[in-house]
Amino acid sequence: MLQVNAYAAPSATEDLVPTRIDRREVGEHDVLIGIKYSGICHSDIHTVRGEWGPQQYPLVPGHEIAGIVTEIGASVTRHAVGDRVGVGCMVNSCRECVHCLAGEEQYCLKGNIGTYGAADVDGTITQGGYAAAVVVNEDFVVNIPAALELDVAAPLLCAGITTYSPLRHWGVGPGKKVAVIGLGGLGHMAVKIAHAMGSEVTVLSRTLKKQEDGLKLGAENYFATEDPETFEVLAGSFDLIVNTVSAGIDISAFLQLLTLNGALRN
Ligand SMILES: [Zn+2]
Ligand SMILES: [Zn+2]
Repeated sequence: MLQVNAYAAPSATEDLVPTRIDRREVGEHDVLIGIKYSGICHSDIHTVRGEWGPQQYPLVPGHEIAGIVTEIGASVTRHAVGDRVGVGCMVNSCRECVHCLAGEEQYCLKGNIGTYGAADVDGTITQGGYAAAVVVNEDFVVNIPAALELDVAAPLLCAGITTYSPLRHWGVGPGKKVAVIGLGGLGHMAVKIAHAMGSEVTVLSRTLKKQEDGLKLGAENYFATEDPETFEVLAGSFDLIVNTVSAGIDISAFLQLLTLNGALRN
């Protein structure tokens, strides 16, 4: 076992405290990552508080991990010592089911193994990125391009992929009109990425309070959904609507804003 410094929640109701946790020895297909940054995701808070089901404590959250490879297992081919790498929301899956074999490990039929609070194949409970180091199978470690600083890369490992994935899946690019509902942690990411992919981006927010920020982030248009006229003006406008708000919305009203065969992604 390796022992590393970490911040752990002792229970669902206590603040995180500095502690030491065990990491498994670096196995044949594992890489040891010296963690430089870990983003803070709202899921970290939900999980620690037990709001998504009971947890084992102490629990170390963090699934937006960016760092440097400091050791590799004997059979590792995808990474080398010194590589700048990241780890997102999962660290393993069965790799045998039809979904895993299709490269969609997040939908593993046996359940993907989350970066923290999940039972790993060896029976231990995974611990996340609020720590000095982590051991992860090479297949669940991604390279971070040299042009990206590690601190700004970290949030891309969850918030980034969460918004990039639907944009990519629905073929967003030049000529496509994308609407993003909400301009928070996920929404601002969706705006930046959809803009970078070349589509025309519209923010749909309750009020115009964040309009200036939205336009600065790359949106062409910004509408307030509290104004009923918005839904008349924009009817039939969008190829894709990405909903990033956690509060309930009137989905059927937003569906009217789609083009024929358009999609709304929650
Ligand atoms: Zn997250
Ligand atoms: Zn699987």
